[in-house]
Order: sequence, then structure tokens, then C-alpha cells
Amino acid sequence: MPESRQHGRCRALSPPRSQRCGAYHFELFKRGSRRYEKVSYPLRCGVYHEIDGPDAVLHLDLNHQPLRLIGKQKNWPHPQEWLKRTIGDDWIYYSTGGYTGVFETTGEFYLPNLPYVTNNHLGGKPLDQEPIRSQVECWPAVIDSIASSCRGCSDEIDLLIERIRQRTPVSLARRAKLLHRIVNGPVSVLPPDTRHVDYQVIPVNVSLGCLYKCSFCRVKNMSSFTQLTLAQIEAQLDSLHALLADDLINFNAIFLGQHDGLSCTSSLLCAAVESAHRKLDLEASYLDGTNTFLFGSVGSLHAAEEKLFDDLDKLPGRVFINIGLESADQATLDLLGKPLRAEKVSAAFHLIQTINKRYRSIEITANFVTDPDLPESHYKTMMELIRDQVATTRDKGCIYLSPLRFNDPSRARLFDFYKIKRLSRLPLYMYTIQRL
Ligand code: SF4
Repeated sequence: MPESRQHGRCRALSPPRSQRCGAYHFELFKRGSRRYEKVSYPLRCGVYHEIDGPDAVLHLDLNHQPLRLIGKQKNWPHPQEWLKRTIGDDWIYYSTGGYTGVFETTGEFYLPNLPYVTNNHLGGKPLDQEPIRSQVECWPAVIDSIASSCRGCSDEIDLLIERIRQRTPVSLARRAKLLHRIVNGPVSVLPPDTRHVDYQVIPVNVSLGCLYKCSFCRVKNMSSFTQLTLAQIEAQLDSLHALLADDLINFNAIFLGQHDGLSCTSSLLCAAVESAHRKLDLEASYLDGTNTFLFGSVGSLHAAEEKLFDDLDKLPGRVFINIGLESADQATLDLLGKPLRAEKVSAAFHLIQTINKRYRSIEITANFVTDPDLPESHYKTMMELIRDQVATTRDKGCIYLSPLRFNDPSRARLFDFYKIKRLSRLPLYMYTIQRL
């Protein structure tokens, strides 16, 4: 978009500029891509500062916090792999996975390797290996070398370095804690669809807890489902606005948490989306388009009135709703401790297909569990739904398979996944559970 057509915040952005300072090259307010795209090369989105030095390229967000780090050492595993720091203060290593199977498995070209126990499908622990481990631990030393080499280069670089040095590991951890305080605790799981914006979402809670408290679930909390008031939601939005400050321009997506946003009343949900767009100024993001992500359940999907989807479809941006179907087999539901009848799950699956066909800007996706020890009837009923009962191949309404066992990468499991994927008439990927 030409600068003249941008509004508000975007127009106020400082122009990009670059400067060399000894061995370091600075690019301030560097303009990256405006669009998240699925490409097999590293695509840097948003506006950021770049410092290209002898040992690493460092990207900083517009609040001067480390954002990405790309090693230049000889033993850096791959020139197109990088570390990214989230607003929850986790460092994630993006690997190519040798470019084999990553896209087919996850829907993305790069595999996010996470620093915590989660459903790790493709294996490997690059964050435990050198030189990645030492980059995560020693990035402040990289800043120190930049400071000692570049001090006095120019007033602008001096000011930049001073601001970066204020973002110590302790202060970054404190800011992540503040984020968690604003939204009632860490975000234990993001919807799988947030992969479309590289998990770069602003979390806002519209409700707490969930309906079922299934015994298999690792991310539930035990509080009963509670809808928040619009005043409580707006208080979070005001605090998030203050916390994200200058970097707000790099967000075009919200996650309406926690585990069953769809259980909220239609009026509250729509008011929350509108208020988030207004208070966070999402339309003025540097990134194209806006996105709303939330979870729903079989119960909340059946209970939702048609008017809710009519209203959501008219709101700005795209809306992605992820429903945990888990299984359409009664024996498996009982095994999972999910208090649901299999017929309700199948009916929810068909309702999802109807909504996906009817609404242009709404996409409902669904999760099924996967595990080698589940009864055959689980896979049989799932295939009946995703193959036999879908007349033609569709590109909307992804199915995600969610492994029950974390940190147990298994070739056999992937082989089963590819078998199911080949037969499915809906796009099918593994669910990468990320937190914030
Ligand atoms: S799977 Fe969903 S509904 Fe069940 S306990 Fe977990 S968050 Fe709650």
C-alpha cells in the first residue's frame, strides 16, 4: 500500500533509514512484508530494527525488544533458520526440517521448535544444541558487543542502544508476566489457525474456563465457564494497548480466549471484536487485513444462533473458530473422559460444513485426537466424516490431528497421519500446540 493511502499509526511511522557503524550495519524502521505468506524462504513481516553484525543478525521490535536472531557462525545449522522471541518471552527456533514433510504435516514451510513440552511431531531438539542454546542464553552479550563497538557513532544509534539495553532478560520476563496478569494467566494454548499469522496474536479473554473438563486434556483449568463483562474485556484492551505501545502496529490479529469463546453471548462476542478493533486500532496495523481467532466446543456450536454467524460475518476481518470435536466414536469419547454423545459430534461436524459454505469471512476448523492406542472405531468414524460424508475436496475447514502423547515423535504415527491425510477431502494437518 502506498504511504499516502495508509492511515493513522502507519502514516506516523518514522521513515526507514540505514547507517554503517564499524562492523555493524543498522537498518532502522525496516519495512518487512505486509502479508503473512506460506513460502519456502524466510519472510520477515512487519516493521522492525535490524542490526547486522559479524556473528548474528538481530531484529528488534518497535519497543526495542529482541524479536529475531539469525546466527552467522559456521556451525549455525542453516542460513535460513532463525530464533524468534514471543511476547510471552519464549524463544522459538524455526527450522526447515530439511524441507521434507514440514509443509504437508503442519501447513507451514518452517517448523516452530518450542522450548517447552508439547506435541512435537517431527522430533529433534535444536534449542538444546549449540550454537542455538548459547544464542538464547547469551543474546545480552551480543548487545554488549554492539554497544562497545558502536557507542558514539551517532546520536540516533546511541539512543537505540540505550533503549535496547534497558530490555534486560529480567525486564523482558517482567513484561511477559504483566501480559499474563492482564489476561488472567499464561495462555496455555493458541488455536491451531493462528499459524496463519505466525502465532502473532494479541490475547484477550472474553471468558474463562470451558464446558467439559475432559480427563485427557492437558490445557484445561478447573474454573467453571464464566463469561466476562464488556467492561472487563475493555480494561484488558486498554492495558494491552499500553503494554504493546509502539509495536502495536505489528499486530493484526486477536485471540479471544480462553477455551470456549463461542459460548459467550452473540452480543458480547461481537462487541468484543468491535472494541478490540477500535481500542487496539487493528485497522491501522502495518499488516494487511485483520483476524479474530477463538475456540468453540460441540456444545457452544450447537447452542449458537444463526444470528451470531450473520453478525460475525459482517464484522471487520476474518474469523477463525476452532472446535475440539476429538472423536465421533462413543468408545473413544468415553475413554477420553469427554462427556458428549457421538451423535452430537457428528452433527457438529455437519454444521461446520454448512457454516463454512455459507459465510465468506468465517472459517470453522476442527480437531480430532490421534494416538496409536485408540480404538480402530475412532479412525473409522473419523474417516466416514472427513471422506465419505464430504462430497468433494474442499480447501476450507481444516482438520487438525492432536496427538494425545506429547514429546513422543514417532515415524509410525506420521505414517498413519499421511495415510489419513491422503484420504481426507478436507485439508488436514497436525496441531502444533503453542502457548503465549
Ligand atoms: S478439551 Fe476443551 S473442553 Fe475439554 S477440558 Fe480441554 S479445554 Fe475443556
